[in-house]
Amino acid sequence: MSFTLAIVGRPNVGKSTLFNRLVGKKLALVDDQPGVTRDLREGEGRLADLRFTVIDSAGLEEATDDSLQGRMRRLTERAVEMADVCLFMIDARAGVLPADEVFADILRKKNANVILAANKGEGRAADATILEAFSLGLGEPIRMSAEHGEGLGELMDVLRPISDAHEERAAADAPETDVDVGEDDEDAPRIPTRAKPLQIAVVGRPNAGKSTLINKIIGEERLLTGPEAGITRDAISVQQDWGGVPMRIFDTAGMRKKAKVQEKLEKLSVSDGLRAVKFAEVVVVLLDVEIPFEQQDLRIADLAEREGRAVVVAVNKWDTEDDKQDKLKELKQSFERLLPQLRGAPLVTVSAKTGKGLDRLQQAIMRAHDVWNRRVTTAHLNRWMIGMLEQHPPPAPGGKRIKMRYMTQVKTRPPAFVVMTSHPDAVPESYKRYLVNGLREDFDMPGTPIRLYLRDQG
Ligand code: GDP
Ligand code: GDP
Repeated sequence: MSFTLAIVGRPNVGKSTLFNRLVGKKLALVDDQPGVTRDLREGEGRLADLRFTVIDSAGLEEATDDSLQGRMRRLTERAVEMADVCLFMIDARAGVLPADEVFADILRKKNANVILAANKGEGRAADATILEAFSLGLGEPIRMSAEHGEGLGELMDVLRPISDAHEERAAADAPETDVDVGEDDEDAPRIPTRAKPLQIAVVGRPNAGKSTLINKIIGEERLLTGPEAGITRDAISVQQDWGGVPMRIFDTAGMRKKAKVQEKLEKLSVSDGLRAVKFAEVVVVLLDVEIPFEQQDLRIADLAEREGRAVVVAVNKWDTEDDKQDKLKELKQSFERLLPQLRGAPLVTVSAKTGKGLDRLQQAIMRAHDVWNRRVTTAHLNRWMIGMLEQHPPPAPGGKRIKMRYMTQVKTRPPAFVVMTSHPDAVPESYKRYLVNGLREDFDMPGTPIRLYLRDQG
């Protein structure tokens, strides 16, 4: 069984054009299939050797009444529920519009796996949108032109690990018994609910010990749970209960091997990591205690932060360290100095070889995930903000008094906040940092990227 890709986005961005391109001429409409409404087109997509099901949520162009938004929302939600991954398309010529933010919000709430695509990306006009699109908080957009067939290679690169993970999961799943679904209910979702495993990527330089670590995690659980079919070491990701929690671990070392098998150019571990980071919730940056915080480590950690992932730093090969106390102090100092953007992120020492520290690593991952998902109520935030403003009022550049009126959390994963303020452009970075650090401390959100947006309100 192949994986399912849903193409979502507001009307006219080019969803059908991409759908037609992926599905090709012999478009298989399967309207009568359970769960597919007439608004959702489904077809067999192919991209080189990849095979998958594509759902196109277009078909709303004609609707112009007030209920358009509501219908769009329901349709998109339905598509998301049916899909393993969503391609969220925006129009690179039009820029990021408020309607796009609505879609981004739906996708976030649904915890969807999202690939952001800026379509109509041919030509210079698209450049600004590519940058702007980062503000959607859905990672780096793929620049594409559905009409001219550009960007499909990049799309394929992103889909491949998903396809692999899907195949592996299908192989590992026990055969299902038939379930009587009972009465036919038009609106009831017919999608089996699956417990979503926590998605982890282990990234780091070659030889940091990524394979050893993942093997150890898999191996230890095997002793507890007995041998299981379907876990192969070449896999791009493995799903595994770890301490009773279902987790999916993206293995960048495995990706490299796979790339070699396919006789592709061996990529830098940073670009392998990049792909894994995109689909992870928590990124474990694995350092080698002998050469910690190398350039490559810093780049990937920074990338994870910019992509808005929860980050845990693990220092491996701790068994080889004699002077553990001094070393730990030194590591903490380097961490603060070299990765200030990850302030408060957990630093865990482990030995992948002996398994020492893996329980602490698991706890740190769970906690980071928790913080990343944290939501603070608006009432709490506003009470807090008043205190912060009193303690240290915003500056008055050129005599302009900056007034901050209202604060609310607009999303989680990672937590993002909006402050309604006068003269948002005049607020210095240092003041934003004061607020972000305050949020971090007072609401106990160490280590997670926190986004703070200032919006103009007179
Ligand atoms: P949908 O409503 O999202 O399904 O959008 P359509 O696929 O119907 O496309 C809307 C319009 O955008 C059509 O006129 C397409 O020809 C055009 N279009 C689609 N992809 C591209 C592209 O890559 N570049 C340009 N310039 N136009 C495109
Ligand atoms: P990868 O390239 O990041 O996947 O690294 P590997 O897992 O292949 O490990 C690289 C080397 O480091 C191997 O020789 C491992 O045996 C060794 N190694 C990995 N973890 C540890 C550890 O915790 N302690 C020690 N002493 N060696 C380790």
